[in-house]
Amino acid sequence: MDISAIFGSKVFNDTVMRERLPKDIYKAFKAAVKNKKSLDLPVANAIAHAMKEWAIENGATHYAHWFQPMTGITAEKHDSFISPVSDSLVIMEFSGKELIKSEPDASSFPSGGLRATFEARGYTNWDPTSYAFIKDNTLCIPTAFCSYGGEALDKKTPLLRSMECVDRATERFLKALGEESDNVYTTIGAEQEYFLIDRDLFKKRRDLVYTGRTLFGAKPPKGQELDDHYFGTIRPRVLAYMQALDEELWKLGILAKTEHNEAAPSQHELAPIFTNSNVAVDHNQLTMEIMKRMAAKFELACLLHEKPFESVNGSGKHVNWSISQGDRNLFKPGDKPHENISFLMFLIATIKAVDEYQDLIRLSAASAGNDHRLGACEAPPAIVSVFIGSDLEEILECYERGVEYCKKDSMPLETGVHALPVINKDGTDRNRTSPFAFTGNKFEFRMPGSSFSVADPAMVLNTVVADVLIGFSERLEGADDKKTEAKRIIAEEYKNHKRVVFNGNNYSEEWREEAKRRGLMELRTTVDALPRLLDEKNVSLYVRHGIFTRSELESRFEMQLENYSKIINIEALTMINMSRKDIAPAVEKYLGELGSVARSKLDIGISRELCPEIKAVEMLSSELVELIGATDVLESLVRKAGDIGGEYEKAEFFKDEVIPAMNKLRKHADTLEENVDRRAWPIPSYGELMFSF
Ligand code: ADP
Ligand code: MG
Repeated sequence: MDISAIFGSKVFNDTVMRERLPKDIYKAFKAAVKNKKSLDLPVANAIAHAMKEWAIENGATHYAHWFQPMTGITAEKHDSFISPVSDSLVIMEFSGKELIKSEPDASSFPSGGLRATFEARGYTNWDPTSYAFIKDNTLCIPTAFCSYGGEALDKKTPLLRSMECVDRATERFLKALGEESDNVYTTIGAEQEYFLIDRDLFKKRRDLVYTGRTLFGAKPPKGQELDDHYFGTIRPRVLAYMQALDEELWKLGILAKTEHNEAAPSQHELAPIFTNSNVAVDHNQLTMEIMKRMAAKFELACLLHEKPFESVNGSGKHVNWSISQGDRNLFKPGDKPHENISFLMFLIATIKAVDEYQDLIRLSAASAGNDHRLGACEAPPAIVSVFIGSDLEEILECYERGVEYCKKDSMPLETGVHALPVINKDGTDRNRTSPFAFTGNKFEFRMPGSSFSVADPAMVLNTVVADVLIGFSERLEGADDKKTEAKRIIAEEYKNHKRVVFNGNNYSEEWREEAKRRGLMELRTTVDALPRLLDEKNVSLYVRHGIFTRSELESRFEMQLENYSKIINIEALTMINMSRKDIAPAVEKYLGELGSVARSKLDIGISRELCPEIKAVEMLSSELVELIGATDVLESLVRKAGDIGGEYEKAEFFKDEVIPAMNKLRKHADTLEENVDRRAWPIPSYGELMFSF
């Protein structure tokens, strides 16, 4: 396969634009994007025309504004290009107006109250900084989605706002340092974990179909304890899937690079090469969508849920994040990090930002699904801390104490150039337990869940770091000796914020205690974390930088609570349904079989002692009674939850009452599964799901 020939073949990218747009139009377009200005209509018309011609040549018949509403997945409204010129004649048309703006009905998307206070109308606006592409014979135009009054109804608008904010803040900061400052942008590489299971088995599990995760399932005899899956040989069917997936992603210009097996059986990872953060967010959305669709072609199902299976590792999304100026990665330590003032300032700015806004960082990884993962000793805990490695820690310690960094001659390269030596020095491996790790030339944020949009984590990182950089700039701008002032800032801020730096094992119980002593927050669940969104300090941050208005934040708070409750509600209803319609009847049937075996044995005079079926019937019957009782309890709690008026109280009730009742029901079902004939059990077992092919 000639990869270079297919790469980006479905993308209206820079090369295509240069080829197809009149020179002056191309220039006007580039200038508008660079200066973040909107396009004149004639320019938009010319671009729309070229786009349409290119799309039709490549098989497209429709166009769609492609956007990312608060549901977390993408939405698209398809229109065909046709336009009638007479009764029997149509031409293919696509105007600049249609390119720039569309009006999908906003009332069917979550808006958390914005819809009530404002108009139901919503607009999608072309985002010219992410390329249009063809998917399923449709020209997809990346857009931002907002209400009639301009309130963001999506995940992209705040992301774009935060990107402008951090770009400006970084430019100002670099200028204050006396360094080159044009062309600043943030970069993201989003590593994606997922599970692949057989599609027929998937369809037999209502829990997977309705909720994306298994709500029942006894532990299989073998899980991930042998660590034989991580980086193991990829099974042929999966390999074929990965190759087809890569090819499809490459056509869309997505830099899919690494595919390997992950820790849990049937778990895998895809890592792309990093790119501009807005594009990386779009690409990750597309990647998730195509992963699912491609799976169907191979008779597989792709599970993107954070915790599809109890007792084996769940899936996350590692958001690698950095800031660049031109070709220069601002988080690259260089050969002598201890002398690299601008690097150390970016490092300390991030540490300070993460410490000051631990709650927002935590919130950007909060969801009902991810609650199963964070803090479960397989993924970062719900406590936010930063790993920087012992070398950088020592350098910052020296700054704080005002002493020379003494090891500089003996280890010139250890924190520089290469990603690994920083961490390898004292024999520790790369710290995989940290929620927020400096990995050589970027930060890796590991808390987000596998099904998340990268937009939220990226938006939060951009905003909090921008806020700190602005503060640093003010100090530098007012100082006569910038270098001395910079060193002073590093020393002071390290002292103020080093409590958030932790290089040890984040999974340990000692760390939880230590974190408490240090005054770090532990927001264990989504419901615990969400109210922080409306803390005055956080509202003020977002409003100050123009990322969210207060009403946008309030609406997001509502939406996330609502979403949480809805998810648990669906899960609970699914459990009730499966318990009554699948599990209980299957156990009854099996009990009947056991009973008739016992009866016929007794009939021919065999003693009770030789009828183990009787004991089994007793034991299973009592578990069945428990199962039915637990199902009834769960049902009444779900009904009760439905009557609770306040969104927060409702979510709390789901967390504190409904989830424990679900766990109880599951326990009885799993015990029954362990004691019932394999052939009698109505749903595929964990063993079958994870080890079937
Ligand atoms: P690993 O974590 O497996 O060692 P890498 O460190 O090479 O792999 O990269 C992990 C992810 O981080 C990849 O998606 C990579 O493209 C991304 N990445 C590398 N450099 C940057 C950067 N400067 N900004 C954002 N992401 C980056
Ligand atoms: Mg990683």
